[in-house]
Amino acid sequence: MRHWQKKMGRTVSSKTRNNRFLTEVQLAVFREFGVPVRYNRGQKRKDLLPPGKRCEFCSEPATRAAYRIPYTKGVLKHHLRPDFLNQSWNLIATCSDHITKAKWSENRIERYVAKLHERAEHQR
Ligand SMILES: [Zn+2]
Repeated sequence: MRHWQKKMGRTVSSKTRNNRFLTEVQLAVFREFGVPVRYNRGQKRKDLLPPGKRCEFCSEPATRAAYRIPYTKGVLKHHLRPDFLNQSWNLIATCSDHITKAKWSENRIERYVAKLHERAEHQR
């Protein structure tokens, strides 16, 4: 690999890693064609729900990967990247009764997103 290619590759990947928000073009595509599939169910579920994993709210066996910031809303309303929303910070292991308990209130989501915007401004 040539030096400039390495340099470009690094620039692109670190940009993606730090950016939690969709570009206008990406958002327009999702609005027109739909939001991408939530997560690779097989692998992600296995990581988040290993055998013996318990619900975060009761001690029942965990069967769900619940979102703090709901996936579709996070993408379409808050313009967050799907890959960012699918990271472990946003997913909680729950039983089927407590799946909605994982969800943050609208207020909390808005505060969190505002903080991300602030951080993104600093990085520019
Ligand atoms: Zn539970």
